[in-house]
Amino acid sequence: MTSLDSNVGEYISNEYFEKKLKNGFFLITTSHGSWSLLTEKEYKILKSGDFKNTDLFSFFENKGLIITKKNTSKIVNAFKSQYSFFDEPHMLCVVTLTNRCTLKCDYCHACAKPKDSKIKDMDNKTMVAVIDFICSLPHKNIGIEFQGGEPLFRFDLVKDFLLLLEKKLCLVGKNLTSRVIVTNLTLMTEKIADYVIENNIGLCSSLDGPKELHDKHRKYVSGKGSYDIVMGWNDYFNKKGRNINFLPTITSESIKFGSKSIIDEYLRLGFFRVNLRPIHRIGRGKNKSLWFDDESFFEFWKSGIEYIIELNEAGIEFYDYNTQAMLKNILTPIRSYMCMRTPCGAGISQLAFNTDGTILPCDMARSLPDLKVGNVKKHSYSDISISLLEIKTHTRDTNPLCDSCIFGAYCGNCLCDTYSAFGDFVLKTPQDFDCKIKKRMLTYLFEKLCDKRYSVIFNNWVTLK
Ligand code: SF4
Ligand code: SF4
Repeated sequence: MTSLDSNVGEYISNEYFEKKLKNGFFLITTSHGSWSLLTEKEYKILKSGDFKNTDLFSFFENKGLIITKKNTSKIVNAFKSQYSFFDEPHMLCVVTLTNRCTLKCDYCHACAKPKDSKIKDMDNKTMVAVIDFICSLPHKNIGIEFQGGEPLFRFDLVKDFLLLLEKKLCLVGKNLTSRVIVTNLTLMTEKIADYVIENNIGLCSSLDGPKELHDKHRKYVSGKGSYDIVMGWNDYFNKKGRNINFLPTITSESIKFGSKSIIDEYLRLGFFRVNLRPIHRIGRGKNKSLWFDDESFFEFWKSGIEYIIELNEAGIEFYDYNTQAMLKNILTPIRSYMCMRTPCGAGISQLAFNTDGTILPCDMARSLPDLKVGNVKKHSYSDISISLLEIKTHTRDTNPLCDSCIFGAYCGNCLCDTYSAFGDFVLKTPQDFDCKIKKRMLTYLFEKLCDKRYSVIFNNWVTLK
């Protein structure tokens, strides 16, 4: 639509998506990430294009619902910001030195093997090849995360890997920006703990909630749970002034316990956040008895968010990381969390390396051999870049239905979950569990953003680290 009406400037209508919310407001979004909550009267004016005698022209221009000479570059820049991660100088490299593990967690996406399994750990030649490959990446800043299996089985290799990597990165003028060990803590010793503390190595571990829940999932082959040992090491590190970054995995058992019990466990331990993220349906996570339907998860998550809001109102700082990522997408132009954007971080912000040197776009792809993009012993970064092209082009515009979805600019889907469910990278959105829950969660967040009680708190969450 164009207009030369003297009461309004010259404009053309932008493409927008619309949904009537339960509270009567009309949610209007655009591909460049702008959103508005309109009353019925404002909505009708937008539809009719009859802006005469209203002050809505400049409002719609500011929101980019109409395109004028004045706002064109703002709209283009907002759109570009959503994809600025393509130019990021940072790459997270996830390295598996062993896929043997002390525990047999029932949702393990990597399908880790028992400690006496005959599978091979990474050998020295492969380790050097992985390090050389990482040093050849075009990225200036490198983050390293050791996953498993249980990396502490081969703490000797962890140390060797870091020493050689640091030396080689220094020679090529790159920075090692983070070093993290993802561990179940069962093989932690005071000697390892001291090394970790002295060398400022981060620790990430799992804590599914209270003991009864945690021990249902995270147990030894004998059936004994790992909660007590995890708590022992948490106390040890806390006394030394160090925190372990814990994450829960939400399963059908977690839904039975309720989100409050998980949040209370994290609060009891002095944490400021939880991450209410559903189980990845990959590897042993394909066991359907661990799954739940979208409605059950939505109610679980919603009651968790409402409980956290009450805590915040009582002066207790706390938030949910997964929800914060969605709110950041709504309230800021940058898509900072690699697992809540499209395309996600797989192959763009993250690469994973298996014990045999296989290169994968994400650690989550370790039980999806079709997704391997090369091997450090045979392929260069430019070789794998060609294999990664298909993944990189999976923006929401190439996913049918996401391209016209009202939540397209704020949503994100896990490439590995999609591949595990459908055998290709294209989401079958009406059947996709993740799509169903994202629609419910994003609708809830937009409805609550109309309410000052929630919007003040949600705006604060996006500033928290
Ligand atoms: S995954 Fe579902 S909710 Fe997300 S953008 Fe696509 S259609 Fe919309
Ligand atoms: S594939 Fe899944 S886990 Fe991996 S970066 Fe993408 S969203 Fe995150």
